[in-house]
Amino acid sequence: RSEQLSQLKELPAITKDGRKVSLCANVGSIQDIKKAIECGMDGVGLFRSEFLYMDNTHFPTEEEQYLVYKEAAQLSGPELTIRTLDIGGDKALSYYEFEKEENPFLGWRAIRISLDLKDMFKTQLTAILRASAYGKVRIMFPMIISMEELRMAKELLEECKKELDNKSISYDKEIKVGIMIETPASVLLVEDFAKEVDFFSIGTNDLTQYLLAVDRGNNKISKLYNSFHPAVLRSIRHVIRAGHKNNITVGMCGEFASDIRAAKLLLGLGLDEFSMSYREIPEMKNMIRNNSYEEAQAVAEKVCEKITIREVYEVLGFS
Ligand code: PEP
Ligand code: MG
Repeated sequence: RSEQLSQLKELPAITKDGRKVSLCANVGSIQDIKKAIECGMDGVGLFRSEFLYMDNTHFPTEEEQYLVYKEAAQLSGPELTIRTLDIGGDKALSYYEFEKEENPFLGWRAIRISLDLKDMFKTQLTAILRASAYGKVRIMFPMIISMEELRMAKELLEECKKELDNKSISYDKEIKVGIMIETPASVLLVEDFAKEVDFFSIGTNDLTQYLLAVDRGNNKISKLYNSFHPAVLRSIRHVIRAGHKNNITVGMCGEFASDIRAAKLLLGLGLDEFSMSYREIPEMKNMIRNNSYEEAQAVAEKVCEKITIREVYEVLGFS
């Protein structure tokens, strides 16, 4: 069977009736990219830049980051989506003291840290820009809740571009900028965000947690943590529609994108890019290639009418 799947490597992720989607990889190292290429990835949908910060003894310098991003860009072919630093929550740094917080997941994390530690952020953005001269690099901001945050992040990016211009250092002037949709606020403002970014990637791990007010790491309530909850599914539908209405692509890089049980539904909702760990790519490609988009659309429509998880499962044919 695994041999069968590996034969898919060179084939596109296309349905029987011709709808093509991208199957991308979530990666946490250069090694992961190499493995994902072996598995037939279409690009990197989520480059978790935090590994450069966490496996380290200091904030990585511009040069240190640049060299890694450059190698990643050269390897990744049509797409390398670098997510800017996403620490805080449950992720700490050995060389930086975080104040203790009552609710770390509602606290100082991700873009909030970057916008507070501006020099650190600009170092990362500059390194990413420099690497963009070597491949198709995209920048993605995590945990955005407001237009102010997005605009501030984009402003800092513009500053970095100007500084490179002044030094005549090259970068991709058309570099695409996107955000993760992983907070309820970003779902509700998604139409507005769509006018100011080039792409969305839905982070269902956090979106499920914040939408349902269920801690993603608390075993006691793990039964409540379910991305098949109608509120999550309708949010996903809303985001995809808003993206498409504004001609921008919508991907997903949370675990839900690799859930085979959800594949038909997400396909039918019109998701453009599924990003997942390289191990899951062959199986998902097989799934996509054996489905019809038209049929998946009908299923998705039916699923989104349902008001309980059980009914959602019934429509999707599992329990
Ligand atoms: C997500 O929240 O879905 C996501 C992909 O990011 P992380 O799991 O790193 O928070
Ligand atoms: Mg997240």
